[in-house]
Amino acid sequence: MNVTVVCEHNASMDSQEGKRAYPEGLGVCLQEMLREAGCAVTLVTIGENGADALTDEIIDGTDVMFWWGHWHHLKVSDEVVNKVADRALRGMGMVFLHSAHDSKIFKRLLGSSCSLKWREDGEHERLWCVDPTHPIARGLGESIDIPQEEMYGEPFDIPTPDELVYIGWFKGGEVFRGGCVFKRGAGKLFYFNPGHETYPTYKIPEVRQILRQACKYVEPAQPLKEKIFCPHIPEFSVKD
Ligand code: ZN
Repeated sequence: MNVTVVCEHNASMDSQEGKRAYPEGLGVCLQEMLREAGCAVTLVTIGENGADALTDEIIDGTDVMFWWGHWHHLKVSDEVVNKVADRALRGMGMVFLHSAHDSKIFKRLLGSSCSLKWREDGEHERLWCVDPTHPIARGLGESIDIPQEEMYGEPFDIPTPDELVYIGWFKGGEVFRGGCVFKRGAGKLFYFNPGHETYPTYKIPEVRQILRQACKYVEPAQPLKEKIFCPHIPEFSVKD
């Protein structure tokens, strides 16, 4: 499986806390996690220049795309968003992580503001599995503890998910639909809230297992469609 990890590099990642959480870089951590699962992984970094490095060749060769972004959402060109959205609707799988809820591409595919409540306080999050039969939760217990995370709370302005797998609970009392599957066109996408850049959430074995299983779950079930279109149905004629 060809996976592309699109990950932003921002100044918060260069802070002491950011470097302590991911000395190798958050994008590299995700890349290694997926390589361990046998995927061929291309890492594309979004920076001050936007997502220029996300070329047509990379997009066209991707089976599943992971997206982590925060500060530089608006620097991703509409042209790139159009190309990624087109491929997602033709069947490419997508996994949106943490603040990717506010990315142009996520909002395009969901069609809503995707706004939420938040508080950056390093609070304990407990992720409750609300669908133990779901392949993304396979082999995992009823809940997963994340010692420190950014609080994301409801209301989360998303369409009702096609499949809800995890609900996060925070020490401050808030709850959040933190593990959701949406089906769009011929493709599937998974949104997962944990993963603020200054907490080492993506080092937690259960979180890594969820993301590897999500990658497998959203993988295209069949070859990608050439294009999304409305087929013309020949006129119906009644024969005597
Ligand atoms: Zn964050």
